[in-house]
Amino acid sequence: MTLPRLLVLSLGGTITMTPAAGGGIAPTLGAAELVAAVPGLDEVAQIEARSPFRLASSSLTLENIVAVAGDIRAAFAEDFDGAVVIQGTDTIEETAFILDLLVRDARPVVVVGAMRGPQQAGADGPANLLAAAIAAASEAARGLGTLVVLNDEIHAARFVRKAHTALTSAFVSENAGPLGLVAEGRARLFTRVAPLALPSLPLPEGELPPVALLKMTMGDDGRLLRAVPGLGCAGLVIEGMGAGHVPAAVAEIVGEVAAAIPVVLASRTLAGPAFERTYGYPGSEIDLIGRSVLPAGLLGGPKARLLLTFALAAGWERPAIAAALAAYA
Ligand code: ASP
Repeated sequence: MTLPRLLVLSLGGTITMTPAAGGGIAPTLGAAELVAAVPGLDEVAQIEARSPFRLASSSLTLENIVAVAGDIRAAFAEDFDGAVVIQGTDTIEETAFILDLLVRDARPVVVVGAMRGPQQAGADGPANLLAAAIAAASEAARGLGTLVVLNDEIHAARFVRKAHTALTSAFVSENAGPLGLVAEGRARLFTRVAPLALPSLPLPEGELPPVALLKMTMGDDGRLLRAVPGLGCAGLVIEGMGAGHVPAAVAEIVGEVAAAIPVVLASRTLAGPAFERTYGYPGSEIDLIGRSVLPAGLLGGPKARLLLTFALAAGWERPAIAAALAAYA
């Protein structure tokens, strides 16, 4: 039997980290070494291993992930059956969301990492990589867009979030739950996500438009908010309180900023939709939407920021951006 062909790209992260001269751990291992360390992986897929980056995931850039999306698109043009991207867990949800936007192929793309380094007791990297490869090689995972696999759970890119700094069960999908799990060497999907109802996006070239993300907190006086357009930002995402609220004193400043650049309103609560038609006081979602702010649907701040970035890079105007956000509502 011919095994499925997988592209495995390693970008760094704890899963690749070994002790550094100055203390702590730092990225060193590449994809080939990681693949070689997983018992049974050679029975799952034929793997082409590449290591484009060896970075902590906090240092990956959007442009790095656009390049990864380009590599996966090229591999899919060459008959690969799936792709696995290995990286640090800190920004896995952002990488997965970008690949979900930019790859758009029925073949699975799975992003994976580990919460413990390879030399720590109970290292979870090998098990996570095996589970990720099983998912990426499976028929069952086709048509679900980009997935994140850790702790044997399969999450959809649009829902997944890192929700703990330490546990191997750090990844959650609060709005939906995981789509499935990997058990006994098989990817089992309990539920599926609908295909993204968005126009396809070209692979952007060059620098991406800068989009700011600001979290509202009690007593915020709007001074950072007011500065955003003058800093050269092409867009802004506000993580509002609760269902998407700001202090009354800040509402007018939000309106001034939204007159200059697109402003998206998400919730800092991390689950549930940004509201659109419930609260009617100054600084509420109805007030802010009346000031041209666009509600983020179920997207949290970081993912709303990515959608706005790539929409602006594609030249989308506000109605198209609003429609794209509504696809996540
Ligand atoms: N700080 C690490 C990173 O994101 C954490 C991890 O890989 O889990 O690169």
